[in-house]
Amino acid sequence: MATTHFSNVDWIVAWDEARRRHVYLRGGDLVFSGTDITFVGKGYDGAADTVVDGAGLCLIPGLVDIHAHPASEPYYRGIREDHSVRAHYMTGLYERSCAYSIDPDCLKYGAEVSYADLLLSGVTSLVDITFPYPGWIDVMARSGLRMFAAPGFNTSRWYRDNPHELKFIEDVAKGKRDFAAALALIDEVHAHPSGRLSGIVSPVQVENNTAEMLIESRAAARERGIPWTLHASQSVVEFNIMVQRHGVSPIQYLDRLGVLGKGTILGHAMLIDESSWVRWHTRTDIALLGDSQTAVAHCPTPFMRYGTVMEHFGRYREAGVVMGIGTDTFPHNLIEDMRSTAILARVASHDGHAVSTSDVFHAGTVGGATALMRDDLGRLAVGAKADLAVVDLTHPLMMPVRDPLAGLIHTAADRAIRDVYVDGRRVVKDSKVLTLDRQGAAEHLAEGQARMEAGVPDRDFAGRSSLEISPLTLEMSQLNGPA
Ligand SMILES: [Zn+2]
Repeated sequence: MATTHFSNVDWIVAWDEARRRHVYLRGGDLVFSGTDITFVGKGYDGAADTVVDGAGLCLIPGLVDIHAHPASEPYYRGIREDHSVRAHYMTGLYERSCAYSIDPDCLKYGAEVSYADLLLSGVTSLVDITFPYPGWIDVMARSGLRMFAAPGFNTSRWYRDNPHELKFIEDVAKGKRDFAAALALIDEVHAHPSGRLSGIVSPVQVENNTAEMLIESRAAARERGIPWTLHASQSVVEFNIMVQRHGVSPIQYLDRLGVLGKGTILGHAMLIDESSWVRWHTRTDIALLGDSQTAVAHCPTPFMRYGTVMEHFGRYREAGVVMGIGTDTFPHNLIEDMRSTAILARVASHDGHAVSTSDVFHAGTVGGATALMRDDLGRLAVGAKADLAVVDLTHPLMMPVRDPLAGLIHTAADRAIRDVYVDGRRVVKDSKVLTLDRQGAAEHLAEGQARMEAGVPDRDFAGRSSLEISPLTLEMSQLNGPA
């Protein structure tokens, strides 16, 4: 087993198990052997195959992204940034999902691009929620990331025939077939020789699954000792549908079914009973999540584009909710999502102390690891996996180096991530991904997007074009000569 020794490192974000928090260690050493960290502290005097001079470096734990759709989201670049539907309380999710469809053969390119972007921002563990597509396992294995594959299934799907209503086409038999296929895929990835792939049971949306399917799939996750994830309380539309069907909020409904608790990860549990966007008469959702130690995958980016914020991240934490962070859409940059999480919580609470930089770094590392039921991830400690990112403190955006995490999260972000290791293997070197063809995959995106957009008029209930649904940022020039 090869041993790597980072020697006399300027700054290490080390894990203090006794205090259950990250701490700064100055002038320390970090050593890993094979896939595991074997030393964090001062004065390592053992042997090593590789010694790295730690001057000008900060070592941080690899980031843990607990909610993403990497294969499909890159195809919405240029389409969804300004796309918001007022009649759906601002979310554009339902309009896009009904009107746009990506050729499954294109999805592997999207995944390759997103995985590369995530690695470059220091992510080492990734929850990938998707409907299975050709080539998925190959690109996961090749990426070098620690993957948590969440193959999706639903017993109904959305459709629209007018501008304001969301309707459903139920097909329980298909949902059951897809659930069985998802479990088979999860068992297949667990057996993968890399040891870096595992699975999560993932009914995709609360409103798109029968109670029986939610209960049965939760039980299947418990049997396997793996997490279970679901979109719930992600829109006012969904909240109102659940109230109409069951008389309670989506979270109260899940509590009633007995599916909350350790190992349950809700994306995004944001439009909850007390949210000012919802104003339901109860005030119990946050407590139900906290008391049951349910995890929330908070993904600020898609929502802030709609003008919506979580109200607010700090209160969930204080109630004991396991708070992790996800990227959900592009840019696949978890550092920027940590920054947005902190700032939006302060805006939502009118309180600059509501959420600290330390809080969001905890969520993007240990919080995500706890959600995934993995105490060997998201921390630099003996016995943890050798998943780490090397921050270049000599990058101008990191100077002056008074407080490296503040500099990384609020200023430099991915630009200061130099190297990334997963399972002790270097997968990013000098800000280049070694395992994936980022550029080559990106060159496939335009064709897939063009095909997707060509299909929009046939799929949209009003027969609109993609340009009508989502106009470009600027109008096209009418000039024929020099401007
Ligand atoms: Zn999602």
